[in-house]
Amino acid sequence: MTNTQTPLVLDIKGNSLDDGPGIRSVIFFKGCPLSCVWCHNPESKKAGPEIAFDKGRCIDCGACRETCPEQALSKANPFYIDRKRCTLCFACVAACPSGALEQVGKEMPVTDILEQVLPDKPFFDASGGGVTLSGGEPTLFMDFTADLLTAIKREDIHTLVETCGLFDAERFVTMLYPMLDTIYFDIKIIDPTAHKTYCGVPNDRILANFATLFARAPKDGKTLLPRTPLIPGITDTEKNITDIAAFLKKLGVTQSALLAYNPLWHDKTDKIGTPDPYKTDKAMTAFADNSVLEKSRKIFAEAGIET
Ligand code: SF4
Ligand code: SF4
Repeated sequence: MTNTQTPLVLDIKGNSLDDGPGIRSVIFFKGCPLSCVWCHNPESKKAGPEIAFDKGRCIDCGACRETCPEQALSKANPFYIDRKRCTLCFACVAACPSGALEQVGKEMPVTDILEQVLPDKPFFDASGGGVTLSGGEPTLFMDFTADLLTAIKREDIHTLVETCGLFDAERFVTMLYPMLDTIYFDIKIIDPTAHKTYCGVPNDRILANFATLFARAPKDGKTLLPRTPLIPGITDTEKNITDIAAFLKKLGVTQSALLAYNPLWHDKTDKIGTPDPYKTDKAMTAFADNSVLEKSRKIFAEAGIET
């Protein structure tokens, strides 16, 4: 489950107001042990590099087709790139004048990441913000993430990790936990069969890890916030929301977060050439109406959990 390789970074987003308190820089890692069918960042699922093609930016100059040594590019290919032929040399990316082709995932040493986020420290300090590690799954790369968190903490910056919860708890507590101020922990589905179906893995370890952390986080002065994305017909069913509320209530959780569905991930699947079985699904291609969120909030409130 743990990967000792240096992770690839998808992006570093500055000035974020959506990924924790205050103004934050968000570092998106590439690679995740789950494979949620609705993944908001489908390009973050695989740990290795990929190539993306943005049809809307292509001016059809042909430079990439002339450059490719593998003849992997053709308008006849469903997603332009024949990924069976492509060797990920990225010569076409360098040749493209419009930015339509993009290398997805780049190695960045800790020093380079720090260099990029440190100029925003005055904004972090003024707003109560900091750095958020997201993905993908930052805990998939325990060694690198520990080095990165150590470097960030040395600069006295608030740290937050967004995790799917599937990790080796002992290593997490030893290597990452001491340098974390806040942990956003996804609790998506309680039914084990449904979790395996929609997220690709069983959920027993995830639920156990949450319980382990919740038993100690408050007294260690850390914020541990469970979060549930409301995915139409998958996680937002009355049964699943009731089950999650019951699971959290039993542990003594009084604060949680419910995340409204955002369908924008569909735009990304064509770019990286992955199948999208929900592309024409009415509920999965629309923004959720507020009633879904309100209904779920009511169930949580009845269990004594604020959202
Ligand atoms: S990355 Fe290299 S092999 Fe792949 S399509 Fe581009 S030029 Fe061809
Ligand atoms: S080089 Fe870029 S703009 Fe030109 S055809 Fe290729 S993808 Fe399109």
